[in-house]
Amino acid sequence: MRWLHLTVLGMALVGPAHSEDIMDVLRRSQDQRLDALKPAQDAQRAQTVRATFEKLFQALKPEVTVEFRVVSGPIIAETLRGDVIVANESLADMPEGERAFIIAHELGHVSEGHWAQMGRVYQRWVPGEVTQDKTDPVAAMLGLEASGLAHRQEYAADAFALQALARLGWSVDVALSAFLRQGVQHDTATHPGTRKRIASLRAAQAGTSLADAAEAK
Ligand SMILES: [Zn+2]
Repeated sequence: MRWLHLTVLGMALVGPAHSEDIMDVLRRSQDQRLDALKPAQDAQRAQTVRATFEKLFQALKPEVTVEFRVVSGPIIAETLRGDVIVANESLADMPEGERAFIIAHELGHVSEGHWAQMGRVYQRWVPGEVTQDKTDPVAAMLGLEASGLAHRQEYAADAFALQALARLGWSVDVALSAFLRQGVQHDTATHPGTRKRIASLRAAQAGTSLADAAEAK
């Protein structure tokens, strides 16, 4: 699932302009992707998706600023530039719990500051002005570290979404349905495969119910 797309490729796609630092380059590559998105075509479905986002935001009250856009096209849901969540209007066709899980996952990326966290990795490998002679020798190591962090961020966002579902009284089982609906995905540079995510979710779920049980005592 391409719910988060932070990649070293961003750099190759835009190419650094004069005296940009790595955060400028990353931000510009994400801006280009934002500009390319098509707005939702169906106002009714867009409203359904937005309503779920608002319900989540009001219930969780994360102390962050978020822009929420409903789009059409191939993206299911994704967080761009750290604080813009884009969600496809087709999420309106899913059961609300599944839609909430997917949106809450993105909200997890925003509220846990994943963009800034990833930015620090990039800045450490590519400090100061971005130049080819600086990026070429570190690209492989940077890619490895960024990929490892991206995977951990996916698990963290899934765990955030799971807690959000529990908080709103939705069955956490819908999280699994949301995954299965996408079909089994394999590991990518930015995302762990479906089996790993489900295993991690089950562990988080066990942790959540243990915590609930401890609280109930
Ligand atoms: Zn994600």
